Amino acid sequence: MAVKVNMKKTSVFPAWILSGLTLFVLAVSSCATIPPGDRERGTVEEQAPAEIPAEDIVEDILEAEAEDGITAGILLGFDDNYYAGWEAAFPLFDRYGAKVTFFVQGNPAFCLNALARGHDIGYHTENHVDLRNLDRAAWTYETLDSARALRENGIPLAAFAYPFGFSDPWMDEELLKNYAIIRGFGTTPRFYTKEAIASGLIASKSIDNTVIPDDTAFYQMIGDLLQTAKAVGDLIIPLTTHNIDDGAQWGIKTARLEFLLQTASEMGLRFYTYRELAPEWESVSPSP
Ligand SMILES: [Zn+2]
Repeated sequence: MAVKVNMKKTSVFPAWILSGLTLFVLAVSSCATIPPGDRERGTVEEQAPAEIPAEDIVEDILEAEAEDGITAGILLGFDDNYYAGWEAAFPLFDRYGAKVTFFVQGNPAFCLNALARGHDIGYHTENHVDLRNLDRAAWTYETLDSARALRENGIPLAAFAYPFGFSDPWMDEELLKNYAIIRGFGTTPRFYTKEAIASGLIASKSIDNTVIPDDTAFYQMIGDLLQTAKAVGDLIIPLTTHNIDDGAQWGIKTARLEFLLQTASEMGLRFYTYRELAPEWESVSPSP
């Protein structure tokens, strides 16, 4: 398993990244600014990348390059029902070869169009209510029955995202009978391996305008996250926003989205969809 350090290759990664990396991962994992009701599970602490010492990170980089190039990447999702704003950004995604996942509340026409362009579709309930407040029949309608029409239109819905990120613990297990990946929502950056995501429970970091009001701070944060994922070599960052609109609180400015896509593309990071990180999903019955 030991890999000799090749100085030529490792010189791609500036020393400050490697020396500061362990501290940075620890710092982002212990960030305390979590809004009330935020749910975060299957976190980086459980997967242990926070404990990787710098010399092992060098090994990981070399192993990742030896296998199949960099496998680090981003798992970018857009929630709710901003179909017009999303469609307007299709050319922007294409420009950077970016595949993303839209967590929708219906609209099979949009979903089929997005799938045809290589994007993915997840489900986000029909009416976007706090699922903790529903009786069981209403809960089942929102999470499963209302998804049936989309699936009957050939839209697989491998992943489910809780409205507002709100849930009770029993819901995870129940939803995993019908979805491969269940996604929470919060403000803390989390890094996952492919295997951790395939296990089914993740939390995604909000990159909405309202969460990071300052443009410079946004660009700095995105740069740090992407450099960390690439330096470790096999980590994936789930990121979530809503509309694509310069004035939206819950949405991302077009310039910010382009910065994210361009930076990830130039760094050679991969754009993952939820469905491709759930390789067993094809063999699971897609209907409730
Ligand atoms: Zn939502």
